[in-house]
Amino acid sequence: MDATPPSPLPAPAAPHDVIHVFWHEGMLDHDAGFGVFDTGVDPGFLEVLDKHPENADRMRNMVSILRKGPLAPFVSWHSGRPAHLSELFSFHTSDYVEELVQANVAGHKDLGGGTFMNAGSWGAALLAAGTTISAMKHILDDNGKLAYALVRPPGHHAQPCRADGYCFLNNAGLAVQLALDSGCRKLAVIDTDVHYGNGTAEGFYHSDNVLTISLHMNHGSWGPTHPQSGSIDEVGEGSGFGYNLNIPLPNGTGDEGYAYAMNELVVPVVHKYEPDLVVLVVGQDSSAFDPNGRQCLTMAGYRNIGKVVRALADKHCNGRILIVQEGGYHVTYSAYCLHATLEGVLNLPAPLLPDPIAYYPEDKAFTVKVVDAIKRHWKESIPSMS
Ligand SMILES: [Zn+2]
Repeated sequence: MDATPPSPLPAPAAPHDVIHVFWHEGMLDHDAGFGVFDTGVDPGFLEVLDKHPENADRMRNMVSILRKGPLAPFVSWHSGRPAHLSELFSFHTSDYVEELVQANVAGHKDLGGGTFMNAGSWGAALLAAGTTISAMKHILDDNGKLAYALVRPPGHHAQPCRADGYCFLNNAGLAVQLALDSGCRKLAVIDTDVHYGNGTAEGFYHSDNVLTISLHMNHGSWGPTHPQSGSIDEVGEGSGFGYNLNIPLPNGTGDEGYAYAMNELVVPVVHKYEPDLVVLVVGQDSSAFDPNGRQCLTMAGYRNIGKVVRALADKHCNGRILIVQEGGYHVTYSAYCLHATLEGVLNLPAPLLPDPIAYYPEDKAFTVKVVDAIKRHWKESIPSMS
């Protein structure tokens, strides 16, 4: 008789959260061309030109790291879909949509701000918009609490009547408007792309139903497509006064500086606002190695931002977060930083993926002074914060 005790059954895997990722490979068809960085121009001096920084390779790596990286068991994949033209009018003017339609018919148009429409671009832009709307609807229909719209071309610079900064349609803005039209009363949009989310801000500038917060480098206006400055004085108008909060951070702000800005500025105002839903607008161009930004976040910093936003959503929104992809132009590190952000949003107890290149030094002293000054300014100029 065999006295060996039966081997115990394997312990059931602990239930864990899932991120619902919405994606469609048709978004790879947008090709913004070659030139000197994002100019689209070849003056003829160079043997090797850059791909436009907003290229399909960056997205291929983001898809790849979520499929093959250690986060893969936490991801549920969903197919995106193109937006219908009629859906665009909730955020964009009909004249602007017509301009885009005509540019697509013409086959090429330089819309300014590094934004180039070529064959394939319009189809990709419609997919980015529709896919983000689908991700939001997934949350609104109670099919999941965490959804991520993995989309390009990006959207947060696209204003109601204007393209800008590689963006044609404001993907996040369209999703926010859908949530409002579906009965949400208050949404908080937290934008950590290194550039000012001027398009989203513009779309809700007169509304207190959407609290738009943008942390960005202090780049100011960059021309007619981007007249907004992103300064601390652009705080919304009318009933929206006090509901657009800009946090321009000094160049070189790193993980600790961003953590300080999140804890001292973002967390208190979101607690006060008590949103129904949080939209985390992510751009990995605030990383230490991005060609388009001069901030110094590493994977640890992105992971922390994800955790902070998750805690806010758990407290106020039953954990509901829509994450929308924006910039992020280092073709490999952007994917790693995305992975870290989602680890944070999932509130995982330990990092799943080590940082392959975090070696940039950081000094948060100046950032702390800037953040403290912004806090004082808000208290002095926005009555609801005094
Ligand atoms: Zn950006």
